[in-house]
Amino acid sequence: MQEIRMVDLQAQYKRLKPEIDEAMADVIEQTAFINGTAVKTFQGNLEKYLKVKHVIPCANGTDALQVALMALGLKEGDEIITSTFTFIATVEVIALLKLKPVLVDVDLNTFMLIPEQVEEAITEKTKAIIPVHLFGQGADMNRLMEIAHKHHLKVIEDTAQAIGSNYQYNKQVQKLGTIGDIGCTSFFPSKNLGCFGDGGACFTNDDDLAAQMRMIVNHGSEKKYHHKVIGVNSRLDTLQASVLNVKLRELDDFNDRRRKAADFYDGAFKDHNAIQIPTRTQGCVHTFHQYTLRVKDGKRDELQAYLKEKKIPSMVYYPVALHLQEAFGHFMKKTHNLPNAEQLCKEVLSLPMHTELSIEQLNYITDAILAFFE
Ligand SMILES: *Cc1c(COP(=O)(O)O)cnc(C)c1O
Repeated sequence: MQEIRMVDLQAQYKRLKPEIDEAMADVIEQTAFINGTAVKTFQGNLEKYLKVKHVIPCANGTDALQVALMALGLKEGDEIITSTFTFIATVEVIALLKLKPVLVDVDLNTFMLIPEQVEEAITEKTKAIIPVHLFGQGADMNRLMEIAHKHHLKVIEDTAQAIGSNYQYNKQVQKLGTIGDIGCTSFFPSKNLGCFGDGGACFTNDDDLAAQMRMIVNHGSEKKYHHKVIGVNSRLDTLQASVLNVKLRELDDFNDRRRKAADFYDGAFKDHNAIQIPTRTQGCVHTFHQYTLRVKDGKRDELQAYLKEKKIPSMVYYPVALHLQEAFGHFMKKTHNLPNAEQLCKEVLSLPMHTELSIEQLNYITDAILAFFE
């Protein structure tokens, strides 16, 4: 049996090697490393795939979130409501821009923002909500958009873990990241659509926000050496775009492969009383950036150690809720107690999840986990 990895980028590369190598060789041949044609092509391809009017490529997912917030023209102290159970980047950029992160708890079963708590956290300073589509599944966009419209708030979707997920928004199926005012994603190598380094993008159907974001990622300039606003330097590398052009064609297949592995795990664990399989919400097609179990009775760390002995990698996403992080504790605003996120930090365990898992590997993993509880 092949060594089991948390994410197997090597096996995926081997499968796509001829196309990827050719695409990268083209860029090197042309030496068009910055803003080469592959970037523009990728922008168009992703716009078509997402059915969104504008894609603004940038250097990474964290920048995408920062640029999106910068485009909203907020002022110091404005409040942004988001989840306490996410990767640090979501909240980091809020703080960096001297805005105030307001952290809200998540549902124990879906890991998503609790809409009622979002609404209760709104004050006259609140300007935006950032729903995080954690692990490949959608936050409750129907409820959250309703709340945002009612209170005139902007919505930035953190789609770093959910690119390609279909979501039933009102009567229409849309890609996650295209429902709110701006969607942000990351092409970090292990994400569902990953390049060979860092990369990211913002998407929007709003022409003005698109123009603003295009300017911000380019030093605040539309015309070279004429700077209208304070911007940043955040570009998607041409080499990375060339890899993404190949991989975007495979994205639906990648996500199908992840779902098949998730179905296998579900089948093995669904009636187990010590582990809870991930909940799939109605109206969203989960793309399983992570397959995350909840391990009950305080057994999580013991199970993880046992799996390590069996050479099965696993990860805890996330061990510490953001409202308890040393860097943030003193200046973020917490309007509720956030017990669900704290409980999840003690219970969650993510299993190997990628596009190359074999039935043999999946059997080995599930057998080991079931044996642990016997
Ligand atoms: C990966 C990730 C980001 C940041 O993306 P980078 O490309 O690593 O900067 C932001 N939010 C979430 C939820 C992520 O998983």
